[in-house]
Amino acid sequence: MDYQGKFGEALEALTIEGRYRVFADILRRRGDFPCAVHHTPEGTKPITVWCSNDYLGMGQHPSVLAAMHEAIDTVGAGSGGTRNISGTTHYHVELERELASLHGKEAALLFTSGYVSNDATLSTLVKILKGAVIFSDEKNHNSMIEGIRHGGGPKRVWRHNDLEHLETLLQEYDNDTPKIIAFESVYSMDGDIAPINEICDLAEKYNAFTYIDEVHAVGMYGDHGAGVCERDNAMHRIDIIEATLAKGFGLMGGYIASTAKVIDAIRSYAPGFIFSTSLAPVICAGAIASVRHLKQSNVEREKHQLNAALLKERLALENLPVMHTPSHIVPVLVGDPVQCKQLTDQLLDRFGIYVQPINYPTVSRGTERIRLTPGPLHNEAQMEHLVKSLRTLWNEMGLRNGYDWCQLW
Ligand code: PMP
Repeated sequence: MDYQGKFGEALEALTIEGRYRVFADILRRRGDFPCAVHHTPEGTKPITVWCSNDYLGMGQHPSVLAAMHEAIDTVGAGSGGTRNISGTTHYHVELERELASLHGKEAALLFTSGYVSNDATLSTLVKILKGAVIFSDEKNHNSMIEGIRHGGGPKRVWRHNDLEHLETLLQEYDNDTPKIIAFESVYSMDGDIAPINEICDLAEKYNAFTYIDEVHAVGMYGDHGAGVCERDNAMHRIDIIEATLAKGFGLMGGYIASTAKVIDAIRSYAPGFIFSTSLAPVICAGAIASVRHLKQSNVEREKHQLNAALLKERLALENLPVMHTPSHIVPVLVGDPVQCKQLTDQLLDRFGIYVQPINYPTVSRGTERIRLTPGPLHNEAQMEHLVKSLRTLWNEMGLRNGYDWCQLW
């Protein structure tokens, strides 16, 4: 057996499809984000990052950095174990309290990433709520899909944000069948937002348990940064809120918030929680500072929304195919994986603009795109340079203009 050859074939297949990825070797510099340095074999080059999920720049915030310095000087580097065996520090306990309070819930539970929190919680839920059917939005993130699959129970997929379809599926089961409705608030690739209260209405009508992923919303929506559920006054209607510390809060780690009983059960049964070393205390310390800051400051949120709206407007004025999203996410359609990759290569090499191509399976074929994430720290000149560079490349590459064809699905 030619093992090496098999790996080569697998990589070749991705390359032919235009989906093979090369890591960009990037160094962010303290205080200078979204400017960064790109390391290449030819040397280093200054770039501007337009695809960061550190949406608010909290990974650079002085209060976060100060808290992390203090923690590392106080308790050292790692946590030293799983949560059950020496890995529960005061920082973990404090952060869980802070997150529970943020979401108006009795308790919260930390995981090493948002991915793990979805996978571990959803798979465990299905086992605890024996016989439960999961109703999953078709655009749910891979971590939710995998969690549901690992649970091994029945799954029904409802058309994206389609309440009628969800209700049709719910009606197929009697009132006594345990049901879990799993969905996201802000969908990260299309930038659209779920009708949370209407989904909760259906959950109440059909006696279903609700699970929401607010990964692309926490820190950024609601008066205290608790997400779209807070903005839409729906936090109390959702049974489990799942989110990350890696995006709006600028660090890493995931969590869920719910009743004390639900959290206690997940804590006690989820292998992805039990058998993995806990987050380093320094991460928790940074997260506490970040959550606390965004709880009381609207400055970052307001500037973030303002810059997102401004960028959408500028792109539309240039007749570039920007999708009209109700969120901070700015997708610009290319519609072909190879051209999408060529576009992002050119942006980086010629214009010092860093974005990544978004291809299948992250989005469906024919809807390949770049996904821009303007933040509160991007300035006028950077935005102008981005829009002008895109216009230049759009002309040179003969890419489709306008946005009408973006609305086709
Ligand atoms: N849920 C969604 C919707 C996501 O987009 C992501 C990551 N991109 C995750 C969960 C996983 O979060 P994390 O990056 O913290 O693992």
